Amino acid sequence: NRKQAVSARVERWVRTDVQALKAYHVPAIEEHVIKLDAMENPYHWPSAMQQAWLDALQQIHVNRYPDADCSQLKQAFREAFHIAEDYELLFGNGSDELIQLLAMAVAGPKRTILAPEPSFVMYKMIAQFLQMNYVGIPLGTDFSLDVSAMLKAIETHNPALIFLAQPNNPTGNVFGEEKIRRIIEAASGLVVIDEAYTAFSSSDGYSLLADYSNVVIMRTLSKVGLAGLRLGYLIGHPGWLEEVNKLRLPYNINVLTQASTAFALQHVDELFKQTAQICADRELLKERLSAFDNLHVWPSEANFLLCRTLEHDAAEIQRLLLARGVLIKSLHGSHPLLNNCLRITVGTPEENEVLLRELAALLAS
Ligand code: PMP
Repeated sequence: NRKQAVSARVERWVRTDVQALKAYHVPAIEEHVIKLDAMENPYHWPSAMQQAWLDALQQIHVNRYPDADCSQLKQAFREAFHIAEDYELLFGNGSDELIQLLAMAVAGPKRTILAPEPSFVMYKMIAQFLQMNYVGIPLGTDFSLDVSAMLKAIETHNPALIFLAQPNNPTGNVFGEEKIRRIIEAASGLVVIDEAYTAFSSSDGYSLLADYSNVVIMRTLSKVGLAGLRLGYLIGHPGWLEEVNKLRLPYNINVLTQASTAFALQHVDELFKQTAQICADRELLKERLSAFDNLHVWPSEANFLLCRTLEHDAAEIQRLLLARGVLIKSLHGSHPLLNNCLRITVGTPEENEVLLRELAALLAS
């Protein structure tokens, strides 16, 4: 029958390593669940801003392709984030796409991507997609960057690409500029400073661009409130970004995203107000979670907190919490350093209260 015939052809033609992969799983969003699993900003826009946005969208026509170079949007970014003319910008459909484009630009079977572990899983996945060599160097037990192990790996593998997420996901800490400089100085290839969570942190790698020829800064609007629009961006030396740009599919940023992002940048103070609120609530939530004596909570410079259950099975806690209407992420089993770890995105004060109440009930039993 047809299904078997399809299977036979898939088996014959799809790369065996692709057949062996598991698709990236994102749980279906259930209504009424408090969603604290994906580092989203929990706040809607104020209603006047929402209305102004809808008004602005009335000027949009969808029959034409978008501006392929996003020239207006680039200008809006330069102004909003004070990006010097010396540097180029490149937009992606989320920074996920930018990781893929960067990797494609250097890919080859003998080429290596290096990153500390645990970190953002997409670095490794994309290396696998492109049949590249991936090397993950474990962080210390306190999640600090093991510089000497990283330097050794640089010497052994001469990586084409190094990803350093600062602050790091899922550990929430920053590695520190001095350590990052040592990695950059030792590397021949390109070092990507992934600043997805920079809005919640005092760290800022922008000044590294002035000092080094092998650095690019990657950021995203996903965590500050525009996750649904999908917009990530690279800031870097034109020489690097012009090459990466050749691999970008035309029109990767659609008209609605271009217009909506440009609109949001005119109201960037509103987004900053929300991120400041999230940072304050993160500290409150950290304090309250730390009060549970069977939970360890790490400090965080991101919009989430990493915790470890000391007496309970974290995966089970995650399941039971979902049954009580709160979705968080269990990292148990994803890396040896993350045994019984849970990652909780900071929600609104009301959402955080529900989380604390339900978690208290579960941890007490
Ligand atoms: N980098 C890091 C460190 C992340 O945690 C994430 C999202 N989880 C991303 C990049 C990708 O974000 P997006 O594709 O939404 O821009």
